[in-house]
Amino acid sequence: MKLDALETILNEPPCQQLSHPVFEEQGIECWIKRDDLIHPVISGNKWRKLKYILQDVKAKSCKRIVSMGGAYSNHLHALAYVGKELGIRTAAYVRGERPVHLNPTLTDLVRWDMDIIFISRSEYRALRQFKQFDAFPGLCSEDYWLPEGGASPLALQGVQDILQELPFTPDYLIVPAGTGTTAAGLIGASSNQTHVIVIAALKGAEFLREEIYGMLNDPVTHWSLELGYHFGGFAKTKPALDAFIIRFEQAHGIELEPVYSGKMFYALYDLVQSDRFERGARIVALHTGGLQGRRQHNIVNSKN
Ligand SMILES: *Cc1c(COP(=O)(O)O)cnc(C)c1O
Repeated sequence: MKLDALETILNEPPCQQLSHPVFEEQGIECWIKRDDLIHPVISGNKWRKLKYILQDVKAKSCKRIVSMGGAYSNHLHALAYVGKELGIRTAAYVRGERPVHLNPTLTDLVRWDMDIIFISRSEYRALRQFKQFDAFPGLCSEDYWLPEGGASPLALQGVQDILQELPFTPDYLIVPAGTGTTAAGLIGASSNQTHVIVIAALKGAEFLREEIYGMLNDPVTHWSLELGYHFGGFAKTKPALDAFIIRFEQAHGIELEPVYSGKMFYALYDLVQSDRFERGARIVALHTGGLQGRRQHNIVNSKN
């Protein structure tokens, strides 16, 4: 399949209003940009980040994309699938030892012919220093290196497309962060009328402040970082978060996962309840997708 053909089968995700008594009490509007609906596999910010990178891979006539990620990585999952669809070979360095039984994410990667190389945590950390597409040592001329989480200036450009699709200029945009690339894309492209609230999915994520500043062209300040909603750390959860996700799904009929979107919506409701927003404020929450990650968590699908 060609890239433009792939784009035609993707959905333009709607922006829907969420109704909840607490929003009415506070006199605010909450909207959700449904990037989870772009595609069942290439969902959310992973498509946004990959879009212009894939164009660049084609323009450079590269034949293989080499990247890195954890054993449950939404980035590798989207990349492997897209590579398979577009006829681009993919390979990935995966953190940790090869498990005896592959988890559902890794099983998919193998099924989509991604070559997987398991490496130690320290080796993995060392790979983070390579940022440019051709910076990785030992690549063939037809290889394209893609850093962790798909972080690159082209990824920021893809994220910026989201703002063009919004039906109005929000007063607040709220977004979860792993590497902070998605957040940086939104902050960099939005005007200072919009305050971007970034919810860290990791524990001890102060480093995100610097990471995000490093990705911005201008040192703008219309954003803030919330560090208190990690629920014990990356990919960790607590009963309060699981219960929230189930309540949210029952109330709105929209699925969340506990790694990113669950924490972000929990934070949103918590901030609303703590009077963080002035009356009349319009807030847009970005649902970044990643629902494949639900498979490792025993969240009972409460839709039915
Ligand atoms: C990867 C991912 C994020 C984090 O994106 P960054 O750009 O790395 O901050 C957020 N939500 C979901 C669902 C993801 O898969």
